[in-house]
Amino acid sequence: MEDTIDILGLASSELAEMAKAVLPSGAGAAGRIYSRAFHEGRLALDGLGLSAASEAAWRERFSVRLLRPIRVVHDESPAPDGEAISVRDGQARLTAKAVLGLADGGEIECVRIPMAGGDGGKSTLCVSSQLGCRMGCAFCETGRSGLVRSLSAAEIVAEVLTARIVLGWDCNNVVFMGMGECLDNLGEVSRALRALGDSRGLAYSQERLSLCSCGPAGGVEALRALSLKRLNLSISLNAANDDKRNLIMPVNRGNGLAALAASLAAYPLRRNFALGVNWCLMPGINDTREDAREAAAFCSRVGRCIVNLIPYNPGSAPIARAPSEAELERFASWLAEEGCAVKRRASKGGGIMAGCGQLGRRSS
Ligand code: SF4
Repeated sequence: MEDTIDILGLASSELAEMAKAVLPSGAGAAGRIYSRAFHEGRLALDGLGLSAASEAAWRERFSVRLLRPIRVVHDESPAPDGEAISVRDGQARLTAKAVLGLADGGEIECVRIPMAGGDGGKSTLCVSSQLGCRMGCAFCETGRSGLVRSLSAAEIVAEVLTARIVLGWDCNNVVFMGMGECLDNLGEVSRALRALGDSRGLAYSQERLSLCSCGPAGGVEALRALSLKRLNLSISLNAANDDKRNLIMPVNRGNGLAALAASLAAYPLRRNFALGVNWCLMPGINDTREDAREAAAFCSRVGRCIVNLIPYNPGSAPIARAPSEAELERFASWLAEEGCAVKRRASKGGGIMAGCGQLGRRSS
C-alpha cells in the first residue's frame, strides 16, 4: 500500500498513461477505475471484467487512500445574528470541523461551512494544504505550530473525498483556507486542483475552487503561470502599511505591499470576478480610520477587489479581543466611504476553534 501510487493525486489521463506503462493487462479499465475511485473512495475493480491477474496487478501498483476521521465537532454557538442552531435542527446547517488522520500519524483539519441561506445541505469545504504553516501570522493558531510538512496532492484530494463520502458532507465549493499556505505548496496544490476538476472524477469547475493566500514572494506570479483563469483567489491582507503588516504577517518582510499589489494587478480576472481581500478586524491593531484609508489605497492599486471583513476570533494566545458589532459596522462604513466594495463575513465556527486563524489547536 505504502509504495503504491495513490490514484487521488492523478488526473485521469495520467492514470491511463501510467496504467498502460506499468500493467501487463487491464489498462483499458483505467477510466472506469478512476471514476469509481473518486465516487466510491476505493479501488473498485469488481464488475469490470478484469482477469484475476489484472486485478492483482492493479492492486500491486495503485491504491486509493482516504483519511481517517478522528473526530467531528459541530458548532452550536449562536450565530452573529443571534440565532442559535442546535444539532437537532439539522447538522447540515451547522459549521463543523473534522480532524482527519494522515497515514504517518499527522492530523489535519477541514471545516464545512454551510452556504448562506441554504438549508438544503449546500456547503463550502475549507481544506488544509499543509500540516502546520511556516508563515507565522501573529493572529493564527496554525502559524504558531510552524510547518511540519506539506500535504501531497493525493492527501488534499482525500480530504475532500473523506468529507463527501465518509462524513456525508455535500461540498459544493472547496476553498484552500485551512491549515497551511497554499502557495507555499503550489506544485501539489495545482495537482490537487487538476484532479478535483477532472471530468471523470468530481468535476469541480474552477469557479467552485478558491485559493486564499497571505502572499509569499513569487507566489501569485507562480499561480498566474499556471493559467487557471477561472480560479478564485483571495489575499489575506489585514494591514496595508508595511510597518504594521511586517509585524503581524512576517511574510510581508520578503514581499512588501508594493510588490504584492503589482503581482495581484497582473493576476488574470475573468468577467464578473473580483479579487478577495480578507481583513480580519482586530481591535487596537488594524481598526482605525487610517487603516481603512490604507486598505482602500491598496485595493485601488490592485484593481477589482472586494474586501471581506471578518471578525477576529481570539484563540489560545489572543493578540486582541473580538471586535464588537458596532466596531465592525464602523470599519465597514469607513471602507465604503473610501470607495471599497465590502462584504461582512461571519467568522463561522468560532465556538469549536474552526474560525479564521483558529485551526490546528487541539482543544476540541
Ligand atoms: S493565516 Fe494562513 S498563512 Fe498565516 S500562519 Fe495561518 S495558516 Fe499560515
